[in-house]
Amino acid sequence: MSKKYCFGVDIGGTTVKIGLFQTNGEIVDKWEIKTNTQNHGSAVLPDVVNSLEEKLKEHSIDKEQVEGIGLGVPAPVNAEGVVQNTANLGWGYKEVKREMEELSGLPAEVGNDANVAALGEMWLGAGKGQKDMIMVTLGTGVGGGVIVDGRPIVGSGGAGGEIGHICVNYEEKDTCGCGKKGCLEQYASATGIARLARIRLKKNEDSSVLRECELEKITAKTVFDALKEEDKVAEEIVEEFGTYLGYAMANLAAVTDPAVVVIGGGVSKAGDILLGYVEKHYQEEAFFANRHTKFILAELGNDAGICGSAKLVIDKTGK
Ligand SMILES: [Zn+2]
Repeated sequence: MSKKYCFGVDIGGTTVKIGLFQTNGEIVDKWEIKTNTQNHGSAVLPDVVNSLEEKLKEHSIDKEQVEGIGLGVPAPVNAEGVVQNTANLGWGYKEVKREMEELSGLPAEVGNDANVAALGEMWLGAGKGQKDMIMVTLGTGVGGGVIVDGRPIVGSGGAGGEIGHICVNYEEKDTCGCGKKGCLEQYASATGIARLARIRLKKNEDSSVLRECELEKITAKTVFDALKEEDKVAEEIVEEFGTYLGYAMANLAAVTDPAVVVIGGGVSKAGDILLGYVEKHYQEEAFFANRHTKFILAELGNDAGICGSAKLVIDKTGK
């Protein structure tokens, strides 16, 4: 019997997203289960395995036809599939790959969720056909995946590609969630953009549609909506966001020379309008030989994680 399926599993703090794929990239089915974080998240992997087995029955697929299970987890993951600490799931040290293989009887591959999402976009989304790509996910924080020659940079401890914590401002006085000062995340995440907006609005009394909103209620979306109305203050804020993100990408490009930078996450819902602001500053700052890099929006949305997790398995088995 020929093996031709695999699972992609994206484990998040509230839900686990799961996809059943054919190894050619076709999604057969996708669904979600709740993440049970009680008892240090001890039920998370068994719940996933139960759900996978039910799905195989439902589709009358024999376990023999499944190549393996790929998992994306919200933590640094080393090459052995071990995590040290996963606050969102309640996990401490956990040998995720080994446990998953024992529970399921199938080969398992594990990656960091942001790295895996980047792999997904490269396989089936915006980065299709590319081998050198940076993906930046602008959500509550800034996540990222740096892909070189088709593989995400994992690093010695699994913390490669943590783009959000590159220092882009040595003068910053406010502290990032990570404890450092001047991280990209402080300017380019959804919360970072809202922070830039509050700082800008307090600076003077310039008129702006943003003043119709309570200062504490301003979000990245409010800012981009105002930008689309050609609000001058919103434009300044997005310009500042673009400066930091563009410069950070230029510095990364000097190391990895990506063909494309894929921008995803909630902030990317602002659409094409944001690309111009980032690309302009990238072009100003990039080394001349890196200026060919294109900026594009992510295409897979929440499916990037399951796609990339499945691809981890396919890359491993070479099929
Ligand atoms: Zn930080």
